[in-house]
Amino acid sequence: MSKLIATRAIRGAHKLVARAEKELQDALNKYGPDKKVEFPNTGYYLPISHGMLGMNITRLGELKALLKEAQKLLHPIPTEKLWVPYLGHTLDCGMATLFADEIIEAIKYLQEPLPYVVAENCPDEDNFWLGAADDVIMRKRGIEFVDGSAPGFAACVGTCPSKEVAVKIARELQEKNLYVFMSAANNGKSMADQLRESGVQMGWETRLVPFGSDVTATIHALGFATRAALSFGGVKPGDFARNLKYNKNRIFAFVLAFGEVDDEKHAQAAGAINYGFPTISERDIDKILPTGVCTYEHVVSPVAPDQMITKAIEVRGLKLHITKIPIPVSYGPAFEGERIRGEDTYLEMGGQKTTAFEFVTTKGVNEVTDGKIEVIGPEITDIKEGTQLPLGIVAEVSGRKMQEDFEPILERRLHNFLNEPQGVFHMGQRDSIWMRISKEAKSKGFKIAHLGTIIHAQFHNEFASILDKVQVRIYTKQEDVSREREVARKVYHKRDERVGSMTDEVSDTYYSCTLCQSFAPTHVCVISPERTGLCGSYNWFTCKAAFEINPRGPNQPVQKGDTINASRGQWKGVNDFVYQVSRKAISAMSAYSIMNEPMTSCGCFECIAAVLPAANGVMSVNREFSGMTPSGMKFSTLAGTIGGGQQLPGFVGHSKRYIVSKKFIVAEGGIKRLVWMPKTLKEEIKELFNKRSKDEGVPDLLDMIADETVATTEEEVIAHLQKTGHPTLSMPPIMG
Ligand code: SF4
Ligand code: ZN
Repeated sequence: MSKLIATRAIRGAHKLVARAEKELQDALNKYGPDKKVEFPNTGYYLPISHGMLGMNITRLGELKALLKEAQKLLHPIPTEKLWVPYLGHTLDCGMATLFADEIIEAIKYLQEPLPYVVAENCPDEDNFWLGAADDVIMRKRGIEFVDGSAPGFAACVGTCPSKEVAVKIARELQEKNLYVFMSAANNGKSMADQLRESGVQMGWETRLVPFGSDVTATIHALGFATRAALSFGGVKPGDFARNLKYNKNRIFAFVLAFGEVDDEKHAQAAGAINYGFPTISERDIDKILPTGVCTYEHVVSPVAPDQMITKAIEVRGLKLHITKIPIPVSYGPAFEGERIRGEDTYLEMGGQKTTAFEFVTTKGVNEVTDGKIEVIGPEITDIKEGTQLPLGIVAEVSGRKMQEDFEPILERRLHNFLNEPQGVFHMGQRDSIWMRISKEAKSKGFKIAHLGTIIHAQFHNEFASILDKVQVRIYTKQEDVSREREVARKVYHKRDERVGSMTDEVSDTYYSCTLCQSFAPTHVCVISPERTGLCGSYNWFTCKAAFEINPRGPNQPVQKGDTINASRGQWKGVNDFVYQVSRKAISAMSAYSIMNEPMTSCGCFECIAAVLPAANGVMSVNREFSGMTPSGMKFSTLAGTIGGGQQLPGFVGHSKRYIVSKKFIVAEGGIKRLVWMPKTLKEEIKELFNKRSKDEGVPDLLDMIADETVATTEEEVIAHLQKTGHPTLSMPPIMG
């Protein structure tokens, strides 16, 4: 072990503890000891002192005790005479650094104006630093560390040699699905500033998170890791040994130090080593190489910037499973949450603007040429910026184990696969998809044909056990898209019919779908014979088939167990399952009620039902309808309000098919409660709806239900109900 790093780290710790002492004294003079101190919206107090020492600090005066802990851990700065060859002193001083950081950062939250913005994503302003993540973000993102969708994070301190290098490093880390936590400027400039100057979107959604320009803001990375251990690792506050062990074993993280590494940054590196997180430095700083605390070396330098990530992965000892898809843009789940604004869009397809659909179908072995990708119609290179094109994606697969029942499973995954290239956005399913390709992706050479490249690669990656060959045809001419969509629609319909006359009562087993937890972590679809998943793509048979393909996958059998409430559709087994799988967020769920503990909604719902209290009924609006609804909100606003995995009485996301199910909001009186739907939706479900309403003894119900041609406000809906004698007028109050 090197004398120099120990000297510099220990000297850095002394400096930071002295700084914390001074800033605390100043703050006490200014605000007094009773002033409240906290990070925004968290139940974990100041997470380092809470996690490591079990302290629940809420007042400024209480920071004194934390300062004392920091001072206790300081060791004398080594000199030639006074030097010990143990790592222990450096680690202690590293911990002292973290305590000092936390004091300094907590005091920052007293300042006005606040040096941080409390938000999930960076605003387009000069102050874009996000500081400590609140608990909502921590739960949503922390779970990704647990389920492996994000293996960990890279804490990047300092400034990269150039803007271009900063962007390259960020992209490479994103591609490996790692979070990028940025802090600590060099001469007033940090990696985050460089990304901002390059126009890169930052925030939790793109996994590029700027904490703060101060060196002490590095603490928010370790605070995040600590809270993850408390929240997901079951670690008790104050159990520092288990906390550190959890992080060492479970959180794949490392520090990348760019540019000059001063004493304070050396001290941060020593702090991170406590967590088992090594530091890789671009500059030649002295190394700490014995193994033990970290998986391999502790500090490695100098490493050229383009080698740093590879080195970090090797040093931290993680096997990343990466299949490089041959497309000209980065690819990975990190880009799934990426927004592409209208003005950044080069090409738009679907989304109520053009005809668009996606479809997976099985063919004979000799009918499929593996890897064949065709674009029939204009390519992106043939069109002007801002063009809208129709889109038809047809993936044809073959394989000895392939079955028709598997088609919807493959088809539903297109949403993830086509959302993961950088600069490409995908939403929806079947014949209600919406895609955007950004100007940046286009300028890098991304083409429509690459959508086929991705589908081919990912189907092979994820479904190797059932298929052998994949070919993709993409249509972009109106007449072809319209024609092929009809073919697909017949099959969608046939799939929906597959459940036939099977009822919920005859089956003791339902299925779960948690595919959407990648962006709505508490969401679970419970799928029964009479209630399809809210995206409309998964029915009971699909789930059964998905479970066969992958018994540890997102579709699990759920035993109903004892009935709690038959008309609401609540069962003990389902409740217990939902509670576990929603990560204890949802304790009860009614399959057939909109008012009492309705099912959660992720964001993929084909329709949204909402109670209209004055009309004593329920409206349902489909995704394709862009006009105003009597709830006072358009589909997009409603979707933003109810999505994300929440349970919101009075609102529920559902499939089109569910409207014509006998179990449609039975608890509130079934389809007789429906008072408004868009005209096109009424048309689409007409045949089955009329059958159902006849069974309910109201054969003319569809005409009694208002649409946008007669009503766009609740008052107009009521007038229509009265005019037509709608049955809900004589039903008990829906809110009662
Ligand atoms: Fe599965 Fe429900 Fe998501 Fe559809 S909406 S993919 S059924 S979780
Ligand atoms: Zn969803």
